[in-house]
Amino acid sequence: MIVELLGTGTSHGVPRIGCDCPVCTSDDPRNKRMRCSAWIRDGDLSIVIDTGPEFRLQAIRSNIKHLDAVLYTHDHADHLNGIDDLRVYTEQRSLPVYGPDEVLQDISRRFPYAVGENPWRGGLPQLQLHAIDQKGIVIGNMHIIPIPLIHGCRQVFGYRIGTFAYLTDCKSIPQTSVELLEGVTTIVIDALRQAEHPTHMNFDEAMAIAKIIGAEKVYFTHLTHRNDHRQLEQTLPEGFYPAYDGLVIDMIKS
Ligand SMILES: [Zn+2]
Ligand SMILES: [Zn+2]
Ligand SMILES: [Zn+2]
Repeated sequence: MIVELLGTGTSHGVPRIGCDCPVCTSDDPRNKRMRCSAWIRDGDLSIVIDTGPEFRLQAIRSNIKHLDAVLYTHDHADHLNGIDDLRVYTEQRSLPVYGPDEVLQDISRRFPYAVGENPWRGGLPQLQLHAIDQKGIVIGNMHIIPIPLIHGCRQVFGYRIGTFAYLTDCKSIPQTSVELLEGVTTIVIDALRQAEHPTHMNFDEAMAIAKIIGAEKVYFTHLTHRNDHRQLEQTLPEGFYPAYDGLVIDMIKS
C-alpha cells in the first residue's frame, strides 16, 4: 500500500494570503502546503481521504487517473470544498463516498446536485453516500476502520488501514480510539504548531499521544505558516517528521 500526502497545510494553506513572513515567502517547496488530503493506493485500488479546495490541483499533480472511493474525515471547508472536482471520476459510474452520517447529511444539504444519478453525466458529480460505522468497511482487499477523534466540540473520523492511520483533524484521541490503533506502525497526525490551539493538537500533544499509540513513524500534518519545514525537521526527535505535500509513504517497505 502506498500513501501519498496530497496536502499537509492548515485551513488557510501555506503561504497564507497576504502574509510576508519568512515561511510564506520561502523558496523551499516543502513550505508550500495545500489543504489536507491523502491518496491511498493498493494495486489497482485508489482511494482519497478528503477533497479540500485544491483537490483539482492535487489530482493533476499526482496524476490520479481513477478513484474507487472517497473517505471523509469531517465536513470543514478545508477538507470538503473540492468535492465538485470529483465529477471527472463519475462520468461512467457513480463514486462511493464514505463518512460519518452527519457529514453525509451536510454533503446532501450543501451539494444536493452531486448526490445520486443526474442526467448531465460529466457536468455534475454523481456520488453514492454511505454512512460508515464502527465496524468499518471493506473496499477490495482494504479493511478501513474509522477512528473517532475529538476536534473541538465535534467527533470526527480518522481512518486506520492495516498498520497505517490517518488522524486529522483532532485535539485529542479518546482511550477507546487509542485501543483501535494498537499495532499501528505509521501515523499521519494533526500537529498544527508549537503553540496550543483549542481544536487542533500542537506538537507536544501530538508527540505525547503518538508515544502512547506506539507508532514508529509519525508524520505531522495540518501545519501552519509558523513552521519552517527544514527547521522543524532538525528539531523533532527521531521517528517524528514534518509531512510535506507530495510525500510518499510506502507501507510495503515500512
Ligand atoms: Zn482541517
Ligand atoms: Zn506567513
Ligand atoms: Zn477541521
